[in-house]
Parts: sequence; structure tokens; C-alpha cells
Amino acid sequence: MTSYNSRAVDSALAELIAPLGGIDGFVGSAAEVVLKPNFLSPATPDRATCTHPEILRGVARLVRSSTGASRVIATDSPGVGTAKRCAKKLGLGENEPFAVENIDDGVEVSGDQAEKFHHLMLSQVLRDAQVLINLPKAKTHAQMVITAAVKNTFGAVIGYEKAQWHFRTGRDPLAFARLIVQIHELVKPKLNILDAVIGMEGNGPGSGTPRPAGFLAASTNAYALDAVLCQIWGIHPQNVFTLAVAQELGLLPPLQQIEIVGAPIETFKPHPPWELARPMPLRNMGTPNWMIPLLDRVMSLRPQIQKEKCNTCGQCAKSCAAQAITMPDASSKTGDDKVPLIDTKTKCISCFCCQEVCPEGAITVRAGLAARLFGLGRTRN
Ligand code: SF4
Ligand code: SF4
Repeated sequence: MTSYNSRAVDSALAELIAPLGGIDGFVGSAAEVVLKPNFLSPATPDRATCTHPEILRGVARLVRSSTGASRVIATDSPGVGTAKRCAKKLGLGENEPFAVENIDDGVEVSGDQAEKFHHLMLSQVLRDAQVLINLPKAKTHAQMVITAAVKNTFGAVIGYEKAQWHFRTGRDPLAFARLIVQIHELVKPKLNILDAVIGMEGNGPGSGTPRPAGFLAASTNAYALDAVLCQIWGIHPQNVFTLAVAQELGLLPPLQQIEIVGAPIETFKPHPPWELARPMPLRNMGTPNWMIPLLDRVMSLRPQIQKEKCNTCGQCAKSCAAQAITMPDASSKTGDDKVPLIDTKTKCISCFCCQEVCPEGAITVRAGLAARLFGLGRTRN
């Protein structure tokens, strides 16, 4: 599949959902269905930052063709802006087969999870949806390696709290992945449909390069769906932190037990390989979990600002919960003084929230000298 032509999308979606029992089996008698796209930040469809608007329309049309669901809403809590601003930038208007709603209020997680995630606020609409359909975009991610079905549900965390949770989980990407997996289990979409018609490679998830990946994929199991995307992109699932955690917790089925229906995955393998945003974590070499933070320290991944691209908007400093970024003095005139300064030695925790929100793509991931010298984890997989 190479385009977002609405007819092609409709027939691809119908074909995709048929082996899962058809849309009626998911919608049932629910009066309302909630769609959770990837609305990272307001960006036009050609940037491949957000789920393509035609996928939202196609899924909404499919849902409305079922016997139930008189109301379909799409919502997310973007890192920058609101769901409505993202929708507008994507070209979604008033007369869509669904309504777009902003997420303003959260509900504190209670029950078994309360102790572990003290004060974790999740969107009530997403957490309590009778039928939640997850609509992720296939992209690279500076910290988690990829963002697809599992990571997309982190959007249930209220916007301004996302960076705080990055900060609380600290430098260890596995700790952050555990949080993401717990959140995914709390919101638990009934169905996941991945938009990989045009994906993003390179400096994802916000400023990478759009690249045709050529497919849509669906599953009731987000972990299995992400693992298949990894197989296509040639990434060992152990190198994706969320999948490593899912495997630990028994949530990811063994790869040989994942039934793949449709064209063989070899059909979609990218040539040249999909370019990543960060060096590969090298977990598939049997590295024990306790060594991961150590290895990450050796790799010493840090944000780096490309001076020539920075417009000193200040978004990066606002997004940094570690307060590691100092904006330049308004009187600064030349050179390094003109761009924000990152305290990578004492404050930065390498969460890459700044890289995610930078509207100019001016922040990239830089590996430390040791990693570069020994060629650890090349960025092309
Ligand atoms: S967000 Fe990007 S463009 Fe804005 S100040 Fe930071 S580095 Fe510069
Ligand atoms: S500077 Fe960027 S990567 Fe470092 S802690 Fe702040 S937001 Fe995270």
C-alpha cells in the first residue's frame, strides 16, 4: 500500500480487520468508540509525525458501518499543543465521521497500581473507554528505539505530566519502559491498527524523515504488533525496551507463535535498512538487565543542538523536567551563545523530551566518544 487514497484505505482496513473477526466484534453494542491516534504535535500529514488523517477517517467510517457506535471520538494528549490543534494542522475539519476532543482532566490511578505510580494521572476518556482503538504511527524514537502500538498509549498521561514521568524514572530506559507497559495495561486498547503506509526514520519521533513503509497492520495484542514491526525493520525485539519489559512480564508471545496473516513480512523489508534515531542498545547479545544502564552510560547518549537549525523558540527548555537547558541571554549575538546550553554533565538524564518537541528538528542524539570509537550500536540497523 503506497498511498492514503480514501478508497484504498477503506478496502485495506476492511481486509485487515476481517481475519480478526470484523469490526462488529470490537464495537459490539457500545454507544461510543474512542480512537487514540498519535498526535505528537501539530504537524502537516506530509511530515509523518502524526497518524495520517485518512486512517482516522477510514477507521471512523468502518466503526460507523457496524451495528453499534453512534458516536466516534478521537482524542490524545500531545506533548505540544492540543488534540484539536493537531487535528486542524492535519487538515481535519468540521464534517468528519468523528469528533475531536481535547484532554483536559486526568483521573488518578487507583487500585493495585496506586502504590507503584503515586499520583499518576491518566486521561479518564482513554482509561474508561468502553471501546478504545489505538491508531499508532510507525516511527523511530530517540529513547525507546521505536514508537508504535505500545508507546502510543503513553499519550494517556496528561500532556504536562509526561516530562515529569520521564524525570521520575531517571536515566534508566528500562524503568521508563516499565511505566509505559503498565500504562498500556491500564488503558488496554481493544484493537491496534498501525499506520505504516508512510513511517518515519532517522531523528524520530518528531523530526525524522518520512519514508514509505508500505503497509497497515492490526492486532489485538500491541506487543505482538510491535514485534512484527521490529521483524520488518530488522530490529531484535530485545533492543526495544518496551518489548524487553513485555517479554519479562509474559505479555509478549514467543515470535514463532505470532500468526501473521497477509503478505509475507519479507515483502516489506526496507532496503536500505530503516535508519534509527539512536545507536542500537545491544540487548540482544544476552546483556543482563543490570548492565543496561551501565552500557547506556558507556554509550553516553546525549542531546546535541544543531546551531544552524535552532530558532531559539525555547520549547526544549520548557519540556525539560530536569531543568538542564538554559536559554541564551537576549543580548547574545554570536556563535554558541545564541543557542540553548544543555548541562549534559550534571543535569541531563537523556530522556530526549527536548528532541521530541523541537519544532525545527535542531536536536539530535549524539553517542559518547567510546561508543563512536568502538562503533557500538550503529544507527542504521
Ligand atoms: S526547541 Fe529547538 S529550535 Fe527551539 S530553542 Fe530548542 S533547540 Fe532551538
Ligand atoms: S536536556 Fe533534553 S534529554 Fe536532557 S534531561 Fe532535558 S529534556 Fe531530557
